[in-house]
Amino acid sequence: MRKLAIIDINHTVNRPSGGETFIQNPYEQELIPEAIAALESMQQDNWVFVGASNQGGVPTWKSYENMLLEMRYCQDMLADHGIYFLTILAAIAEGEKCVQIGGYWCGGLYSHQVFYDKNGNYRKPSTGMLKKAQELAGYPQEVLMIGDRDEDCNAARRVRIPFLHAHDWHEDPTLVQAAIQEYARV
Ligand SMILES: [Mg+2]
Repeated sequence: MRKLAIIDINHTVNRPSGGETFIQNPYEQELIPEAIAALESMQQDNWVFVGASNQGGVPTWKSYENMLLEMRYCQDMLADHGIYFLTILAAIAEGEKCVQIGGYWCGGLYSHQVFYDKNGNYRKPSTGMLKKAQELAGYPQEVLMIGDRDEDCNAARRVRIPFLHAHDWHEDPTLVQAAIQEYARV
């Protein structure tokens, strides 16, 4: 059975390496060690990963190009640990655009493409990115959302998939199974 984990990026998978709240420089980021361990165990259990990141700072205080670099650098760091995301999605322009970043290496450049929704539904807690993630992954039977903010939880609730808080996931990756089973019961 194909299993998809839709995973928020900032403060779920990575964080600023200087202790700030937001990543300002694409290269001043680090992976959260507990997230690496949790992703490794899920990957062994045949989960497929799609990132879903609200990038509300683009273009006010973060350039579009730097956002792309930040996400690609995150993917590169994950690949260094043998962890591969199918793709990472980023919502920009008040949710009217969803950028699909890379996932594969093509002629020395990561590919990316942009989806548009004039109703702005790509930005979490709206559901556009979660729906797009499921579409790109081929509508797997088992789907789970992991994130650190209310907008992640509320987006998951709206598309009726189980949610696991990043803090809990970092502490105990086996809670993935518990979250799914608990959701199936209610
Ligand atoms: Mg986050």
